[in-house]
Amino acid sequence: MADHDVVIIGGGPGGYVAAIRAAQLGLRTALVEAERVGGVCLNWGCIPTKALLYNAELVNLFRRSKDFGISHDNFRADLAPAVDRSREVAERMVKGVEFLLKKNGVTLVRGRGRLQGRNEVAVEPGRETLLTENVIVASGGVTRTLPGVAIDGNIIITSREALELRRLPSSIVIVGGGPIGVEFGYLYHSYGADVTIIEMLDHLLPAEDEEVSVQLEQSFKRQGIKFMTGARVQEIRSGEGGARVRVSADGRTPELKAEKVLVAVGFGANSAGLGLETLNVETDRGFVKVDGRMRTNVPGVYAIGDVTGKLMLAHVASQQGVTAVEQIAGLEPPEMEYEKMPRATYCQPQVASCGLTEAQARERGYNVATGRFPFRANGKAAANGVDEGFVKVVLDREYDQLLGYHIIGPEATELIAEATLGVASESAAGDVIWTVHAHPTLSETIKEAALVARGQGIHFWSGGKR
Ligand code: FAD
Repeated sequence: MADHDVVIIGGGPGGYVAAIRAAQLGLRTALVEAERVGGVCLNWGCIPTKALLYNAELVNLFRRSKDFGISHDNFRADLAPAVDRSREVAERMVKGVEFLLKKNGVTLVRGRGRLQGRNEVAVEPGRETLLTENVIVASGGVTRTLPGVAIDGNIIITSREALELRRLPSSIVIVGGGPIGVEFGYLYHSYGADVTIIEMLDHLLPAEDEEVSVQLEQSFKRQGIKFMTGARVQEIRSGEGGARVRVSADGRTPELKAEKVLVAVGFGANSAGLGLETLNVETDRGFVKVDGRMRTNVPGVYAIGDVTGKLMLAHVASQQGVTAVEQIAGLEPPEMEYEKMPRATYCQPQVASCGLTEAQARERGYNVATGRFPFRANGKAAANGVDEGFVKVVLDREYDQLLGYHIIGPEATELIAEATLGVASESAAGDVIWTVHAHPTLSETIKEAALVARGQGIHFWSGGKR
């Protein structure tokens, strides 16, 4: 008889959440982790970056303190203590997860897990073999680089090294204008580095609604964060004191010089060496193929998180983890609906969205209405002195259904929660409109955007009587 109902390989936000939920459901659960529980998210991703980005936000607030009638002399902002603080925050969160695993009765096995059979996980270097009814692969992703570009960890770095960079580089080229690229761009610029972001596609944050990307670009320009879009990196050469980056854009091939180059071009699957091939688990370019309830093609073998390549975010990994163990426990959870899940980027102004962009909704043939409400028309944003950006809603006119929300501006990453509930539950704009929002709050913008879409905006002129 198997010793475990479920063995989970990898203790990131996919694996550790799956383990806790499995234990709550009474499943005999083991979690195998090669490094530290919390995975990339707690140790080298979401949490330490957000600690640093909050520092950056404070630095910018101090810089404009005169706007609030507060003056100070000899203002100085150092990156090193910010990095130290971010490491402490990460450490505290990891310890918290270890505590929770213990309290829930999850067996934590330190080492590298590999599927030896459908019901057998071998753990190295301890040579332990775990017998189990079910396995969940939650091994995460691996950082990608560009063809011909070697990460040397000193001049050419990834986010992993950047998170321990205690001395601010005087200049940095960031390859990739996705969430990680723009977050680090904002961070280093806030501390005083000369930043250039290079993005191959037409806009920064190219997966966001185009109006949001354009607004972010305008804001970055105003802040002095340089960027090139529609630009392809041809070559990166590193040498004494820095790197030279040759870029092709608009038929020209300028060469940029910088002390460091941060490569942030995305992630592949961390699926090699897990024994998946021996069981014939189906993969696609390394990503493990799963159905809506995280089942692979092999009965009893599940996969969750970045290794599935669905939507490579921590909260998605966690939800996949809960779904997988509830399926194992026979609860038949709802199938995953990735499009309705929120996405958040923590530069300033913040960006967050859920559901369909306007372009996607039109492509799918919806009878689209949109409403856009600017933060400058919101009392709380004005009171806080942070009123850049807007909330945009995408509606289906026929059924009044909320299809998507796109926010750029103050606390966008918090505001997206209400919007996500509306989109995920397929609510009507009327539901948001008839829900009374506290005043003055930033959340009133969510309701006002829906009103604008109907031509009924109260605090924003949107075209007269309806
Ligand atoms: P991981 O977190 O990668 O965890 C996998 C774990 O498995 C690791 O601990 C690893 O050691 C372990 N492992 C791997 N192979 C084995 C093995 N064979 N045996 C035992 N253990 C193994 N997402 C957000 O939602 N919000 C953010 O703000 C955000 N910011 C980010 C910032 C950065 C700089 C980065 C790099 C990522 C960020 N992400 C963010 C993405 C997020 O970190 C990932 O989506 C998330 O960590 C994926 O979780 P996971 O459980 O699938 O994998």
